[in-house]
Parts: sequence; C-alpha cells; structure tokens
Amino acid sequence: MIQSLFREDIKDFIPYEVGEQNYKVRLDANESFIGFSEELKNKICLAVRNIDFNRYPDPDSKKLCSFYSDYCGVSKEYMMAGNGSDELIQIIVNAFLNKDDKIAVINPDFTMYKVYTEVRGGKVITLSSNENFNLDVDSIIEKVNNKKPKILILSNPNNPTGAVIPKKDILKIVEKCKCIVVIDEAYVDFYGKTVIDQISNYENLIVLRTCSKALGSAALRLGFLITNKLLLKEIKKVKPPFNVNSVSQTIGEVILKNKKYIKECINRIIQERDYLYEVLSKIDGLKVYPTEANFVLFESENAEEINRYLLEKGIKIRKFKDGRLKNCLRITAGTREENRVVIKEIEERG
Ligand SMILES: *Cc1c(COP(=O)(O)O)cnc(C)c1O
Repeated sequence: MIQSLFREDIKDFIPYEVGEQNYKVRLDANESFIGFSEELKNKICLAVRNIDFNRYPDPDSKKLCSFYSDYCGVSKEYMMAGNGSDELIQIIVNAFLNKDDKIAVINPDFTMYKVYTEVRGGKVITLSSNENFNLDVDSIIEKVNNKKPKILILSNPNNPTGAVIPKKDILKIVEKCKCIVVIDEAYVDFYGKTVIDQISNYENLIVLRTCSKALGSAALRLGFLITNKLLLKEIKKVKPPFNVNSVSQTIGEVILKNKKYIKECINRIIQERDYLYEVLSKIDGLKVYPTEANFVLFESENAEEINRYLLEKGIKIRKFKDGRLKNCLRITAGTREENRVVIKEIEERG
C-alpha cells in the first residue's frame, strides 16, 4: 500500500485552504486594497519585457535587495530575499531545527510558525500573551530560558491581534533570551517602529519583512530576511538556489523605486484602519482591540452569527475558531465603501 510510505507524523495535517474566492467584499487576508496605478503597471510591463526568460534568475536577488535596502535603510549585506516571508520562516526553521528541537511561539500569533516547525519534526512551545494581548516580557524571558528553545519567533505588530511590543521590550527579549529571536515585521510599515536598525548589534536577532501587506504586492510573493553576517551565512546554506523568480524580482525592483507612492498608499490604508476602528468601537456589544496593523480585531458574543450573516451577504472576513480567539473576528481595512458595507451589516446583525 502506497500509504505505508507516508509520514506518520503529518497524518492529521490538513492542506491550507483559502476556500471560495468569489465574494463581493473580501477583507480576510490582510492584503492591501490598493491596486497598482496605470503608470506603475506601464513601468512594470516595460521592465518585464526585458527579462532573459531563457535564463535562471539571480540566486541572490542582488538588485532587488539593493532596492529594498534603500527602502528600509539597512545595508544589503545583511539581507536575503525569499518567495514570500513564508518561505523565509521555513528556511529559518530548516537551518536551525533538528528533529525534536524546540521553537517558542506566542499565542495568539501567525499560525505558520507552528506548521513549518511541525513539518520539520520540531517541537512547539506556546507562550501566552495576557488578557489584552500584551506581553509580560519578564515572564516570557524566564519561560524561554527555562524551556531552552533554539528559536523564539513572534510578529510585531501581532497578527491577528494588532497589538505591539515596545522597542525597548523587544530589545530586552533579544538581549536576555538565550536563543535566536525572530521578529516578524510583516505589518511594520503601518506602525513605524522597527528593530531592523539593531541588526548588527546582536548575534541572535533576525527580522522578517514582506511586500504582501503594506506594499500591495501579495501576488508577487516577496519577502526579506535581515540579520547579521554570521547567521545569514548559516541560513543561506539551506536556501533553495533560485527561490525568487525573475518576474517577481523585476517587478519588485520597479515598485520599490516609488517610495513616495508607497508612502501615500500606506497613509491611505492607515486612514481606513482608523476609520474601521472608530466606527466599530461605537457599536454596542463589540470589544474592539487597539491595532497598529492594517486590520482590526474585535470580540463579540455573537461572533459566529455575525460571521454567518456577513457570508450570506457575500462578505468575507476572518473568523477564528478556538481558545483565546473563540469569539473574535478580524477585518482587514478595505476601501471606504467596503468598510461602510461591512459596518452596516455588522450593525444590523451585531
Ligand atoms: C501575511 C504574513 C506573513 C506572510 O507574508 P508573505 O510574505 O506573503 O508570505 C508573514 N508573517 C505574518 C505575521 C503575516 O501576517
């Protein structure tokens, strides 16, 4: 039987499913609601025309990294590009974890940390944030140093809560935890406070970035890993040689040249997030959590019903199932019109 060749330890895994895509309003995946301008699209077409399609891509995405370096202010010598930051998470796990090695994650946080660790055969240690999704930094440090994971990984701002950890606390964690600390800054462009500038001050700090959220380029699958030279060299040992294709590299280069345009997009998204937050806060029966990302998380006893009602109306937001997030819903900031539609329906049902 062919099944006898399958891995016992991933027997119960379920393939990642996004489900049906034809909703009227889709605010479930934290994408940007802004498509590329006509001007930008024209620039992209011209650049794509000149790709050497018969050749393999640049394995180090050198030009792309130098544009991202210009965007984020850190030298490209500390940088590696990935096929989305998702791939970079997997590469980090593969570089440092052997079977049964431990990784520490926060609950709640981005679920892929756990998935890639378990696929690798690693063990996940879950540390909880407190009632309002803030971290007790001293307790986290103590638990990490007790349980001795090889890696602590967390997102800041946090997905799915939107909560943030102040920079001094992040640096305290990096300094005091005796392990590699990965700070996933997928939403940092909406928050503005990064630890990327500290990369050469610590031997154990890795920062992740993505173009999928604030830079409006989820379709391209582009992410960046930033760390010191010693860790970078180690991580590169397990990187697939041609992980970022030439089309994505080229388009990424074109986009990153438009710093002013990117800034304008980010400001528009922040405006819509703040609008969502304000209006949701005024609805009775909802507990809305503060957010520094491009989405808003709220809690309601009627979460299940609200979600079902929205689906009937062709509106997709993110519903969480268990534990701490049982009654929580997450809405990605959309256009003003989309936000108004969602809010109107929630008011009707909420
Ligand atoms: C969306 C997201 C990612 C994945 O980004 P990609 O670059 O699209 O793979 C990583 N981390 C967090 C916290 C995210 O929310």
